[in-house]
Amino acid sequence: MSSREILRPDICVIGGGSGGLSVAAGAAQMGANVVLVEKAKMGGDCLNTGCVPSKALLAASHRAQTVRDGARFGVNGHEPEIDFLKVHDHVHGVIGAIAPHDSVERFEGLGVKVVQAAARFTGPREIVAGEVTIQAKRFVIATGSSPAVPPIPGIDEVPFLTNETVFELTERPEHLIVIGGGPIGAEMAQAHRGLGSQVTMLEAFSIMPKDDPDAVEVVRKRLLRDGIAIHEGVKVQRVERRGNGVAAVIETKTGVEETILGSHLLVAAGRRPNVKRLGLEAAGIEASPKGIEVDARLRTTNKRVFAIGDVAGGYQFTHMAGYHAGIVIRNALFKLPAKVKYHAVPWVTYTDPELAHVGLNEAAARDRDGEAKAITWPFADNDRARAEGETEGFIKVVVGKKGKVLGATIVGSQAGELILPWVLAVDQGLKIGAMAGIIAPYPTRGEVSKRVAGSYYTPALFGERTRKLVRFLQRLG
Ligand SMILES: Cc1cc2nc3c(=O)[nH]c(=O)nc-3n(C[C@H](O)[C@H](O)[C@H](O)COP(=O)(O)OP(=O)(O)OC[C@H]3O[C@@H](n4cnc5c(N)ncnc54)[C@H](O)[C@@H]3O)c2cc1C
Repeated sequence: MSSREILRPDICVIGGGSGGLSVAAGAAQMGANVVLVEKAKMGGDCLNTGCVPSKALLAASHRAQTVRDGARFGVNGHEPEIDFLKVHDHVHGVIGAIAPHDSVERFEGLGVKVVQAAARFTGPREIVAGEVTIQAKRFVIATGSSPAVPPIPGIDEVPFLTNETVFELTERPEHLIVIGGGPIGAEMAQAHRGLGSQVTMLEAFSIMPKDDPDAVEVVRKRLLRDGIAIHEGVKVQRVERRGNGVAAVIETKTGVEETILGSHLLVAAGRRPNVKRLGLEAAGIEASPKGIEVDARLRTTNKRVFAIGDVAGGYQFTHMAGYHAGIVIRNALFKLPAKVKYHAVPWVTYTDPELAHVGLNEAAARDRDGEAKAITWPFADNDRARAEGETEGFIKVVVGKKGKVLGATIVGSQAGELILPWVLAVDQGLKIGAMAGIIAPYPTRGEVSKRVAGSYYTPALFGERTRKLVRFLQRLG
C-alpha cells in the first residue's frame, strides 16, 4: 500500500524564486488553489545568492570608496579599515531582513501549500516531490539557472567560487581572479577591489558585451582606475593549484602566455538553465541548452505547462521573472491569451558608475530604421553631478522616425534610478518631445533626460528658419 499524498491543485509552481513566488502569491490571492514546490531555500537565487547579496556587498564596497574619496571634498579621506567578517554579516543581515517576505510561513499564510522537496515530472500532468504526488490543472516551471562552469583544463582540481559560495567568505580574498567579464563578473570584481582585494578579470571577448560600447568604456576606465587588472580577448588555457592559492595560465591576444597567481578564483562565466532531473521528457516538454522552449504565452510544448524566468532562457533578470509571472497568471487563471513583449526590457549593472539600458541600442535601431539617430548629453554638463563630483558618464537616447523613442542607455552615478522614465517612453512609444517639454527639478541628475531630449530640437530651433521667423514677427510689431 502506497502512503503517498496526492494533491490536485489548480496550479503547481516548481521553484520558489523570483518567478515562482510571484505566480504563487498572485494566484493564491486571486483565489486559486496553489501548491509551490521548492527544493532548497525559499527566495531562490535573487535573494540568497544573486541580486540581494551582490548589491549589499557592492554597497559596502562603495562606502569604502567614499571614505577614500573624501579628501577632494575636504573631508578626511584615507584608506578605510575593513572588517570583512562584518561585511559578510551585513550581507547576510540584508538577506535575513528580506527573507520573511519569501518564507514558507508567509506563503502558507497566503493559502499556498508549500512542499519542500525536489520536483520531477512523471507524466504530462503529474509530478512527484518527496512523499507527495501532484496532479495539477496547470504547472509552472520556475527552476532558475546555475553558474555555468567552462571546461577549462584543471578546473576540477582547484577550489573555485561561484555566486553560490562567494558571499559565504568571511575573510577578504588577498587576490581574486575573476573568470568572466559580464555584469556579474564586473560587479564582483569592483565589490572586492573596493574592499581591498587585489583583483584580476579574465574575459575571452570584451567586458559587458551586451551593452553600448561607449558606455562600457566609461565603466572600463573606472574599473582600471580602481586598480583592477582587466585582460580582455584572452583564453584561459588551464588553472592549477599553487600553494594555498591558484594559478591561471592565459594566452593573450598576441599569443603570449602569462601566468596569474591569485588566492581565490571566482567563475562568473554565464548561466545554464536548471532543466536537469526535472523529468521533462516524461511530460513532453522540449528544452535546449538555452532553456525550456516557450511560445509568446510562455507555454511549453506541453500546453498545460508554463516556463518562466531564467529557465526559459532569454533575459535572465528578476524583473523579467516577475513580468513572466504576470503573463502566466493571465493565461492560466483568466484564460486570457496574454503574450510577452520584449521591446522595453531594462537592465542595470550596479558597478560605480552604473550602466542602465532599455530598448534598442544604436546599432540595432539603425538596422531597423535607417533614420534612427542617437543623441547624447554628458553628466559633465549637469550641475548636480558637478556639485557632487560625479561627472563621469552620459545619457544616450536612440530616436526613430517622427521622434519616437526607441531606446536609451545611461552610464553614470545612479543610472539605474534614472532609466525609469525612458522605460516608460519606450514601452508606451512616446515621442522625444514628451520628455523635452516636462519641467525637471533643478538641480537633479535627472535633468540630463530633459536636456538630451531638448538637444534633439536644437539644430532646428536655433537654425536660420527660426531666426527669419522671429525677425519677421518682430517687424510686424
Ligand atoms: C550574482 C548575481 C547577481 C544578480 N543580480 C541581479 C540584479 O541585480 N538584478 C536582476 O534583475 N537580476 C539579477 N540576477 C539574476 C536573478 O537572480 C535571476 O534572474 C532570478 O533569480 C531568476 O528568477 P527565477 O525565478 O527564474 O529563478 P530563481 O530565483 O533562481 O529560483 C529558482 C528556484 O527553483 C528551485 N528549484 C530548482 N530546481 C527545482 C526542482 N527540481 N524542484 C523544486 N525546486 C527547484 C531552486 O532551488 C530555486 O530556489 C543576478 C544573478 C546573480 C547570479
